[in-house]
Amino acid sequence: MSLLDKKIYVAGSTGMVGSSVCRELRRRGYERLLSTRSTELDLVDQASVDKYFFRERPQIVVLAAAKVGGILANNTFRGEFIYNNLMIEANVINSAFRHGAEKLIFLGSSCIYPKMAEQPMREEALLTGPLEFTNEPYAIAKIAGIKLCESYFRQYGCNFISAMPTNLYGERDNFDLNTSHVIPALIRKFHEAKFANASEVTVWGTGQPRREFLYVDDLAEAVVFMLENVDAVGLYEKGISHLNIGSGEDMTIGELAEKIRSVVGFQGSIGFDTSKPDGTPRKLMDVRRIQGLGWKHKTGIDEGLRLAYSWFLENIAR
Ligand code: GDP
Repeated sequence: MSLLDKKIYVAGSTGMVGSSVCRELRRRGYERLLSTRSTELDLVDQASVDKYFFRERPQIVVLAAAKVGGILANNTFRGEFIYNNLMIEANVINSAFRHGAEKLIFLGSSCIYPKMAEQPMREEALLTGPLEFTNEPYAIAKIAGIKLCESYFRQYGCNFISAMPTNLYGERDNFDLNTSHVIPALIRKFHEAKFANASEVTVWGTGQPRREFLYVDDLAEAVVFMLENVDAVGLYEKGISHLNIGSGEDMTIGELAEKIRSVVGFQGSIGFDTSKPDGTPRKLMDVRRIQGLGWKHKTGIDEGLRLAYSWFLENIAR
């Protein structure tokens, strides 16, 4: 049976990442896609997840379901972030094993690395130092997911691998100012300020932290690339537990704010609220490993921000 004919379950297909992965799979000719809504299947509930895998027996699983949020949500809902993510990962990965999935790709985040990791962050930097406090519960859950995949390979031989993307943005992002990441938050703030003729937009923190960003459709291409080209044996035997996925370029939050101001066309100034946390000083991925295997991002930040703003205009700002 060719890979194109396999039954693929994309957990989290209603979210920004999962929906982009589904679009990319369809574009590449994969047709047997399975998806579930949270109202139909609660991934935190072990018995329901196991029943679903028993019934559907997906051959390939992309684990893009997670409780996610920006710096404030991570720092506030600390219990929910660690509990929900641990449960989703444990349930999906264990049921995939129990019901014979041939391959699983688990998606995490660049916040798994130590706060003071050497930049750019290599895959080997995992578990070499203390984590950033604001997102530690989420990061611990994501590290547990990586170790679940690795351990299921080492004990049972499962072809379960992990991809750690940098900060993502794009179509279907969360634009709620209290829970979103920085790009959708600033798109909304500059857009609303423009139409209210406000004189200033407030950016959280000092504007000095540096972040790397990746347009979500580029991540989806990386996931399909890994599905077709990367296996557990090759990865774990080199002593690597996961692959970084990023653009390899970063900028300060101040520079990002300037770019978004110009995409939106806001004429006023930018202020900084230093009572809000900065988080990690810098989070730049070393992406040489995935690039060496043959994947590279396509969408530059300026084009990506334009795409994200047009999606916001058509779907949120109406
Ligand atoms: P992080 O990468 O986990 O820190 O997640 P975020 O995307 O939420 O934040 C990235 C950086 O952008 C942090 O330094 C924030 O303080 C800063 N930032 C500036 N303005 C905003 C905003 O309006 N919302 C969010 N979420 N972050 C902001």
